[in-house]
Amino acid sequence: MILSIVQYGDPILRTKGKRIEKIDDHIRELAANMIETMHAAHGVGLAAQQIGEALQLTVIDVSQVEDRPSTMKLNAKDVDPAIAMPLVLINPEIELRGPTEMGVEGCLSFPEISADIERSKSAIAHAQTLQGDNVEIEAGGLLSRVIQHEFDHLHGILFIDRMNSAVKAALSSRLKRLQNESRRGKRIRPEEEQSLVTETTL
Ligand SMILES: [Zn+2]
Repeated sequence: MILSIVQYGDPILRTKGKRIEKIDDHIRELAANMIETMHAAHGVGLAAQQIGEALQLTVIDVSQVEDRPSTMKLNAKDVDPAIAMPLVLINPEIELRGPTEMGVEGCLSFPEISADIERSKSAIAHAQTLQGDNVEIEAGGLLSRVIQHEFDHLHGILFIDRMNSAVKAALSSRLKRLQNESRRGKRIRPEEEQSLVTETTL
């Protein structure tokens, strides 16, 4: 089922996700719906807060992005990221590695906004899968960026918090508009929002 996506201004986007203690039917259904919603919105990642649930749960799929490569090791073994997608990460913890780099990001909760964001080139995530297995994912390239963006969401941190202050100031009227729309109850229906298909949105 395709869910509506919460737009910037909704307080749930600032809420830290609760740890998932039991992977039950509700969590399995939620993860399946989040994957379907992410795909419908042409996003590469979606956090539970973005569909209105403050939980430590995120889904990721970078397999359709050809111009921004990703690398991935699963439990220390090289895997083809395209084959490993979609990922469902439950209760993730991350370690950042190596130098940082700038790269353009969008966010499904901020229609039509994108900006350069500084992120670590490499990230290691420890998380549980839907099957309850503990996995270690070492990510590089776009996947590293997406994992960091989604991990932030799970802790109530948004990409605007990491924007250069001049860029954020230039976006202030658009951000206010999103907040006002959100306050009036606006939600994003992925199948209606073809304008979301711009760059890499997470
Ligand atoms: Zn986002």
